[in-house]
Amino acid sequence: MAKFPINARFRGFICTSAHPTGCAQNVQRQIAIAKAAPGKPVGRVLVIGSSAGYGLSSLITAMWSHGASAISVCFERAAKDDRTASAGWYNLAEVHAQAKAAGKSIQTINGDAFSHAIKEQVLAAVKASGPIDLLVYSLASPVRVDPDSATKYASVLKPIGGPYTNKTVNLDSEQIQPITIQPANEADISNTVKVMGGEDWKLWVDALSKAGLLAKGCRTVAYSYIGPQLTYPIYRAGTIGRAKDDLEATAKRMDRELVQSIGGHAWVSVNKALVTQASSAIPVVPLYISLLYKVMKERGTHEGTIEQMVRLFNDQLIGVTPKLDEAGRIRVDDREMAADVQAAVAVLWETVESGNFLALSDYAGFKHEFRGLYGFELPGIDYAAPVEVDLPLV
Ligand code: NAD
Repeated sequence: MAKFPINARFRGFICTSAHPTGCAQNVQRQIAIAKAAPGKPVGRVLVIGSSAGYGLSSLITAMWSHGASAISVCFERAAKDDRTASAGWYNLAEVHAQAKAAGKSIQTINGDAFSHAIKEQVLAAVKASGPIDLLVYSLASPVRVDPDSATKYASVLKPIGGPYTNKTVNLDSEQIQPITIQPANEADISNTVKVMGGEDWKLWVDALSKAGLLAKGCRTVAYSYIGPQLTYPIYRAGTIGRAKDDLEATAKRMDRELVQSIGGHAWVSVNKALVTQASSAIPVVPLYISLLYKVMKERGTHEGTIEQMVRLFNDQLIGVTPKLDEAGRIRVDDREMAADVQAAVAVLWETVESGNFLALSDYAGFKHEFRGLYGFELPGIDYAAPVEVDLPLV
């Protein structure tokens, strides 16, 4: 047991501490939103990448809007000496506490989802609890160690074909700066596809299918992003975009297989750009998000991860036939991509510079939400008070 006041330790888009009470408050807020939007029931859900961002909100939505029992997989760090646990650790600790209080069933397996050992542990857990009805694949990882060859692949965020120059916000100095990112080589592209493409998702689905652990009609979903032309060179037309192309192609292949084998489905849902640990690390994107938040909040169309997942699960995923776009994808990025929203963001993008940045953008909202991901800057919490950091995950 270790109790001490926790300081926020931010450097750029990284925070090396997290506040358990703040993380718990985030989870409680999401649960309240999910509970207020009850949907059709779903039996058993497996969420891979369940401790933060879209995966955490998927888990909460499945359990509290749709009554699911859950198995969850994450890769999080426990507290040690004077270090707090990671935010995802505290998030899931609270999900478990709330589930217990509500009589809901959840089991979490913490470890590298790319490894054979974790896949085997999860398969054993599913075998014990029963076949799953919904598999959410929401990993966002910078690296993947291939369990067979032990080769380590690193995903990179680079343009393809030529350098990309644009504006970005320096999260330390809070100044708008020009940024030039050099193009990827072939190895960068294939490594990023290896980490963030569809291969591992398919390995999970195949392993569960082979073991007879996908229930009849089981659905599986993974998350993608498209975004505006201005981020295309670094996102959709860059290395990460190639990985998303691969993810989407994998969904189509798996969908054909699942329809045939169990009357199931595999889809990709294209989600909105939001502040998460993963998205904050992408150059240019935090500035785009700051402007997007300003425009969407003014129009009353802003959503966070939980609102996005409640809409996805209720309207498209659970007990309904989704409306797919021309490429076969579910779209919940419709409000972000609305023509008037994008036109307004494009105008702001042209004019934004260090002098007018704070007035033109919702950087305050971005920063507040970013700090909130780690449990900081939340209302009603005495951040000077000592707090127990050594919480059990489950
Ligand atoms: P996140 O950083 O908030 O969460 C990532 C999750 O993956 C965490 O639960 C983490 O524990 C888990 N994880 C990472 N490596 C792991 C490993 N090796 N084994 C087990 N678990 C591991 O990420 P996010 O932004 O919610 O992204 C999730 C998905 O949503 C990604 O595919 C991302 O591209 C997509 N997406 C994100 C946005 C956005 O704006 N954030 C928009 C659209 C789509």
